Amino acid sequence: MPIDESCPCPTCKGTGHVGPIHLNYGNGRGEWKVKVPCHRCGGSGIATPETLDWMARGKVLREARLASGETMGDAATRLGMIASAISAMEEGKREPSRLEQKVAAQ
Ligand SMILES: [Zn+2]
Repeated sequence: MPIDESCPCPTCKGTGHVGPIHLNYGNGRGEWKVKVPCHRCGGSGIATPETLDWMARGKVLREARLASGETMGDAATRLGMIASAISAMEEGKREPSRLEQKVAAQ
């Protein structure tokens, strides 16, 4: 899929909402919400310019990892990161600079 304005938000997959999640109000109080507006795209379901940048950079990282034949688990061990963090950065769900720095340092 080309990365452009029509790209769906990677966090909510274009639905504009995420959930169910548990909201913690403190003092042991909290509640489950089935759907909440996506914090990444503000509920639009469309990736923001910032997210598109993260996705583009994450794609470069993923392609480099795959080209070397490395699995997510291998990369996590080598870089001293948890696999879910690497996955989130490769998918554009998180700002990927920490992964970029780790990769560049090796
Ligand atoms: Zn979203």
